[in-house]
Amino acid sequence: MSLIKVHDREFVPFISEATIQHKIKDLAEQISKDYQGKRPLFVAILNGSFIFASDLFKQLEIEAEICFIKLASYKGTKSTGHVVTAIGLDTDITDRHVVILEDIIDTGKTLYEFLPQITNQRPASVRIAVLLHKPEATKYQFPIDYTCFTIPNKFVLGYGLDYDGLGRNIREIYQLHES
Ligand code: 5GP
Ligand code: MG
Repeated sequence: MSLIKVHDREFVPFISEATIQHKIKDLAEQISKDYQGKRPLFVAILNGSFIFASDLFKQLEIEAEICFIKLASYKGTKSTGHVVTAIGLDTDITDRHVVILEDIIDTGKTLYEFLPQITNQRPASVRIAVLLHKPEATKYQFPIDYTCFTIPNKFVLGYGLDYDGLGRNIREIYQLHES
């Protein structure tokens, strides 16, 4: 078992590079079938999904577009509550087939609060594709159309996901080592 240390924590190998790549190839084939002739627009959520989005997009065999957005979440006024804004959503998504790409769904709060901003613009369809889902942690429910890996409720890093800024360039997914 090859432990790695990132900041103050130790992590153990969890999902290998080959397993990730295999799964992404399958997902790309599935999406290519589902969206043949529809010229989907992929909306990838930064920072965590950048490697997932890149690997998936390269494997698509259909005409497709991609854009990258960043979600900033802050506390609004008492009446607006918690607000999630999208930075960089400058492509017109009206009547487009949108596929949101996210690295991981944990509680689900981020996407749950962001989704109305997509649906409000009347896209032709919206689906969500995620690399990782932690169902045990998910409190905000919405349909997740494509999931690469369902994982237990433990902190992971690598393949785009960070621990306090580090670890995104690790090619496998590692899990927090609890000793
Ligand atoms: P949610 O709103 O679903 O609770 O949180 C989603 C976001 O939390 C993800 O986009 C990701 O940035 C972060 N996150 C949740 N769980 C993990 C994890 O296990 N590892 C890392 N690196 N980030 C996580
Ligand atoms: Mg994220």
